[in-house]
Amino acid sequence: MSETPTHETESPESPTRYRCTACGNLTRFDVTMTRQTRSFHHYTVGGDLSIEETEVLVEDLESVVCRWCGPGAAVVEITAEAAAQAADSPTDNA
Ligand SMILES: [Zn+2]
Repeated sequence: MSETPTHETESPESPTRYRCTACGNLTRFDVTMTRQTRSFHHYTVGGDLSIEETEVLVEDLESVVCRWCGPGAAVVEITAEAAAQAADSPTDNA
């Protein structure tokens, strides 16, 4: 069997960023997501639980809504670099 390298998983250092096209918001969103995970539930004999090795089996993004504008506004996915630029660049002050 030949192993085909797949890199489907995104690195945790670069999470998906969003931007509201209506107000320019980069930081506040209501994200609705369905996630199916499998994890190792590790109990102590006393019954304390620590959850380890969580593996995301299915992740389904349902909606991203701007916290300020609500469901009417269009929220777009952007790259981390674009987010940094948008945060850096001052608003039009010409
Ligand atoms: Zn907005």
